Formats: sequence, C-alpha cells, structure tokens
Amino acid sequence: MKTFNYHSAKDVKEASKLASSNSAFLAGGMTTIPSMKLGLATYKDIIDIKGIKKLSGIKVSGKTVRIGATTKHVEVANSKEIKKAIPSLSALAEGIGDPQVRNRGTIGGSIANNDPAADYPSACIALNAMIHTNNRKIDAEKFFRGMFETSLKSGEVIEAIEFEVPEKSSYQKYPNPASRYAIVGVYVAKHKTGVNVAVTGAKSCVYNEKNLSQVLTKSFSTSALDNVKISSSGMNSDIHASAEYRANMVKVFAKKAVEAC
Ligand SMILES: Cc1cc2nc3c(=O)[nH]c(=O)nc-3n(C[C@H](O)[C@H](O)[C@H](O)COP(=O)(O)OP(=O)(O)OC[C@H]3O[C@@H](n4cnc5c(N)ncnc54)[C@H](O)[C@@H]3O)c2cc1C
Repeated sequence: MKTFNYHSAKDVKEASKLASSNSAFLAGGMTTIPSMKLGLATYKDIIDIKGIKKLSGIKVSGKTVRIGATTKHVEVANSKEIKKAIPSLSALAEGIGDPQVRNRGTIGGSIANNDPAADYPSACIALNAMIHTNNRKIDAEKFFRGMFETSLKSGEVIEAIEFEVPEKSSYQKYPNPASRYAIVGVYVAKHKTGVNVAVTGAKSCVYNEKNLSQVLTKSFSTSALDNVKISSSGMNSDIHASAEYRANMVKVFAKKAVEAC
C-alpha cells in the first residue's frame, strides 16, 4: 500500500474542503481499503467521515424512511422502525456480504461506489429514493450513471438517503456464493403511483426494467409477467452466468418478488 495522508473530518464542510481528485472519503472502508491494499487504487488523502454525527441515524415518518449516509448495514437490518415501514429494505441489508462487512459497510459508501452488483442501488430506484448531499437533492434515477459512476461531483458528500414507503415490496437476489453480491437481484415496489422493478447485477449499472414495471402497474400478479420477454442484449456474461441466463433470472426473480409481496 502506498503512503497517504489521513484526516479525520469534524464536519461535512471540512470533509468537502479536504477533498480533491486524488482523495477518498472513508466510511466503512470495505471497498476503499481492499482496493488500496491490492494496489487497485491510490489516494493522496483519505478523509475519515465516520465521526460526523450528522451523517448517521435512521428517521421514519409516515411516508418516508431517511437513513444517514454512514449508517451501517447491520443497523438497517436490525432497525425495528425500518422492519415495520419497509421490511424488504432491512431484509436487503441483512443479505449483504457477511457479518464483518455488515458491521463496517455503510449505505452511503455502497451507493457512492455504485458497484454493478451492489444491493442498495436497486432499493434506491425501486423506492423512489432522493439522495441528499451537502449541495443538493438528487433523484435516484439520475444518481446512478454507469459502472462505478454516479452524478456526485468532487468533494460532494452524501448526507442521507430518503426512501418512499411503498404499499408493498420485496427484494429477491441470486447471491454470488462467495461475496453475496447479486449475480442478479430484483427489487419490486408497488407505490400508489405505479410499480418499479429495479434490477442489479444483470447489466453494468442498476436500472428500472420498464417492461416489467409497466405490466405490473396494470396488473400486479405473477401471471401478468408470463408473456413478457427480457432481452439479453447488454447483459453481463461471466463465469457465474451467461447473458441469456441472467435475462431469464430477471423474470424468475421478479416473479419471486411479486409472490413475496
Ligand atoms: C467481502 C465483501 C462482500 C461484500 N458483499 C456485498 C454484497 O453482498 N452486497 C452489496 O451490496 N455490497 C457488498 N459489499 C460492499 C459493502 O457492502 C460496502 O457497502 C461497500 O464496500 C462500500 O461501503 P463502505 O461504507 O465500506 O465505503 P468505503 O469503502 O469507505 O467508500 C467507498 C467509496 O464511497 C465513497 N463514499 C463513502 N461514503 C461517502 C459519502 N457519504 N459521500 C460521498 N462519497 C462517499 C468513498 O469516497 C469511496 O470512493 C461487500 C464488500 C466486501 C468487502
């Protein structure tokens, strides 16, 4: 590992000011530290944001669940309030990685990293999330831009993620047996305004599978999905699953999610 300067930011303003094109925020460190140790990434400055109280915590109101960026996966998994408001969201957090990862990894770090197989991005899309940063609010649909790419600007700090409470929802994934990242994960959420079907793991970036969303908005049943065809074009293909297999899994896991709602 190359040498770097470590800073512990006392507040968001300081964290943002310390940031540059050659820095990273340290939240859970579950991506940043292994990447540095393996020599995949080098940074001049590491800005620790774990001590900033404002960035952590869970607030549930009637219509929304707001989760601070440095809130750990284990806290979301165990939150009684989230279990009541959006049970599928705490179940998703419970299914991330292993106990070590869940006790260090944070929701803000997960969505800032935007791994194509990460779980939380699908929750953001399915639950019409708003990403609150120190400068603005970003609609989840505009936040996830591509593989490991978001609309965050240099020095921009995610402060919280605000999810809309749906009428019903479920997240179903086929986990990689080693890491538990999604080979394919499908998050179905039924809102008063319509249904979202967010897919992770299948392409280079999370996306809303509009064919399935539209059909389920008209008729919320597994049989409504029978005749929908999912194209394998643009799907990932690797040692775990071919593009065609992933396309089939999107439909299979969408059905499972509808059934579990
Ligand atoms: C073995 C292993 C298994 C895993 N399995 C899964 C899995 O099954 N499903 C899954 O979804 N994930 C999985 N993960 C990822 C993990 O859950 C973390 O969420 C992820 O590594 C990043 O979160 P972090 O808090 O550790 O971020 P860090 O590593 O601290 O930071 C990651 C990136 O996010 C940026 N960042 C962090 N916080 C903020 C913020 N508030 N504002 C702006 N930018 C920020 C940093 O600058 C950095 O670029 C796994 C990780 C490991 C190591």
